[in-house]
Amino acid sequence: MSATTDAPDESLDPAPGEWAAFRAQGHRMLDDMLDYVEHIRERPVWQTIPHEVRASINEPFPVSANPLAEVYDVFLNKILPYTVGNVHPGFMGWVHGGGTPVGMLADLLASGLNANLGGRDQMPVELERQVACWMRDLFGFPEGASGLFVTGTSMANLMGLLIARRALLGSAVRTDGLGIEGTKLVAYASTAAHGCLARAMDFAGLGTAALHLIAVNDQYQIDTAALEATLAADRAAGLHPFLITGSAGTVDVGAIDDLSALAEIARRESLWFHVDGAYGALGILAPEIAPRLRGIECADSLAFDFHKWGQVPYDAGFLLVRDSTQHLDAFAAPAAYLRREARGLAGGSPWPCDLGPDLSRRFRALATWFTLKVYGGTKLGCVISETCRLARYLGAAVDACSTLERLAPVSLNVVCFRFRCDDPDRDADQMDQMNAAIVADLQESGIAAPSTTILHNRLAIRVAIVNHRTRSQDLDALIAGVLSLGAARLASRLDSRLDSSSGVKKHATGINTTAPRDGPFDAPLLCG
Ligand SMILES: *Cc1c(COP(=O)(O)O)cnc(C)c1O
Repeated sequence: MSATTDAPDESLDPAPGEWAAFRAQGHRMLDDMLDYVEHIRERPVWQTIPHEVRASINEPFPVSANPLAEVYDVFLNKILPYTVGNVHPGFMGWVHGGGTPVGMLADLLASGLNANLGGRDQMPVELERQVACWMRDLFGFPEGASGLFVTGTSMANLMGLLIARRALLGSAVRTDGLGIEGTKLVAYASTAAHGCLARAMDFAGLGTAALHLIAVNDQYQIDTAALEATLAADRAAGLHPFLITGSAGTVDVGAIDDLSALAEIARRESLWFHVDGAYGALGILAPEIAPRLRGIECADSLAFDFHKWGQVPYDAGFLLVRDSTQHLDAFAAPAAYLRREARGLAGGSPWPCDLGPDLSRRFRALATWFTLKVYGGTKLGCVISETCRLARYLGAAVDACSTLERLAPVSLNVVCFRFRCDDPDRDADQMDQMNAAIVADLQESGIAAPSTTILHNRLAIRVAIVNHRTRSQDLDALIAGVLSLGAARLASRLDSRLDSSSGVKKHATGINTTAPRDGPFDAPLLCG
């Protein structure tokens, strides 16, 4: 044997005789994950992680090898059962997409290629550009627009801000920093806008205090008259307004700002117009929602996620920019840019790495491309419409029940409500605690997983229907759960009061944070 032959066991691939066993193991893993999705309804939405499970992965750094099948067993038994649950139709918390089997397979293919999408001349980059073209056309952006996959809308919002900053302050901001003018910059969004906008102001060196939050109207949309008044006052005070962000689907209640009005104000006031369409922008695929997004085509930049309403597996955020030159100006590093070749692997400039902060990037575009191609925009739009229909169904059920109170209009796919009771001894804070406890009870019951939000200073049970698997029966189960858990809490509170007056051992008077374990659903329904 020649001395230059590599030792065969230094590769991480299966040894020549071991591929068949590896392949069988791989097929088992694929089948298990397809089973997981097919039978997701048979599982609880979420369950508390037992202490032993949490502790079980705490072990020394693995210096020596472990059989794949054994490691996979840990995944099956310790990890898979204890996720957030957003694949499950009963998951209604926050805004989480449900994922699809198609997206799952596409991610497997992407990892198989192990493509690095920073740049170079390769079809994976062409595919990302193609998705950008589709998005340009879908949202009515002009020919010269550019787009880029990023982790999520938090990142896309930050990038939109950085592009706006560069467009206003010129190349000097990239070499010399903000300068005097930069310290006067002020941006605007509504009080209902997502918290990542303030974080972006921090990261961009402008400071969170330079994000001026504008009041909302009774539909939770930005109050444009208040915006104009604030703009005038800020200018009079010597500040420099430069950016307005409109929300296309607020995270609290799903409100869509009047984007046409904001576009008009931005044009008149020479502001950069950014839209945070994290989950709502893809509503453009649904014929009855699209008209409500009018004005989105005027945005200078638009951030949104395919991993929410688009059902693409995490993560798949996207930034669309009206003017690709401004986009490049904010991120391209001239030294790297100039080394590009006209031909060969180093061709195909500009590269994705010129459009954002990341150099190495995974092949995010593939799962989105597969999802769009396999299901088609019409079907995805129907899924979005259905989540809104279900929200109206839930809203009507809440309205029909005297023990429930709706706290916000049902604008899209989000319903905010609370359990109420006519107990004069209970003040508003106690009702908030009770509703928070009902939500925790529900989550721990494994039946449904809504989340909470604060509206007009009161805690609301917040149901965001994003998952394409959710059906009306899941909402019926949610309502039955809220009613019976609420009734059980009222009853136990009554018990504790009786106990204290009769001198019998007193129950805890505070709100119990754990669900009544046995039969919480045996309690009588208060209505329905
Ligand atoms: C989810 C969301 C974000 C943040 O997006 P990520 O993809 O989680 O980073 C921003 N804005 C709104 C309105 C959202 O719903």
